[in-house]
Amino acid sequence: LEAKEEFTHKTLAMDVMRPRRNDPALTVLTQDSMTVEDVEAIINETTYSGYPVVVSRESQRLVGFVLRRDLVISIESARKKQEGIVSSSIIYFTDHSPPLPPCSPSLLKLRSILDLSPFTVTDQTPMEIVVDIFRKLGLRQCLVTHNGKLLGIITKKDVLKHIAQMANQDPDSILFN
Ligand code: ADP
Repeated sequence: LEAKEEFTHKTLAMDVMRPRRNDPALTVLTQDSMTVEDVEAIINETTYSGYPVVVSRESQRLVGFVLRRDLVISIESARKKQEGIVSSSIIYFTDHSPPLPPCSPSLLKLRSILDLSPFTVTDQTPMEIVVDIFRKLGLRQCLVTHNGKLLGIITKKDVLKHIAQMANQDPDSILFN
């Protein structure tokens, strides 16, 4: 018989990522179909540090990642300083503005605050490797995909908790100190 590890179940990215089974879905933004009001509601109803941006809810294709604080600052400033920005203005993260009916309110382009290449792993990636990537690249979060579709997110704190569970030790003493 080989070493014991071969028989024990390896923890995978899908076991650590959020949402967990039965949790509400990941909170995402769409690239060109949400209004200022929609995004403000998400900012007010959740406390996450950031939000993945997807092509559409149906496709769940990842476009990028936007930090909450950048969204808050940009929307506040656009509402004050940018002509025509109202609650019903569409926010877009794409290069070109989406086609809209004439007389629609001004659009708010937020491409400049979008991280277009957030780090991703697939759901089957062993956590050993995920931990290594967090350590070596100093990541704050990593997105999890399956067949190119966005599935979940793992934050640095999720990784620390996972390590603490594995080692039953104080998380801060292990990973980043
Ligand atoms: P931290 O993990 O440092 O508290 P967050 O406040 O961003 O950072 O995340 C809190 C928890 O919610 C984490 O377990 C994380 O995996 C999860 N999470 C982060 N962003 C999202 C999101 N956009 N949608 C759903 N869950 C998220």
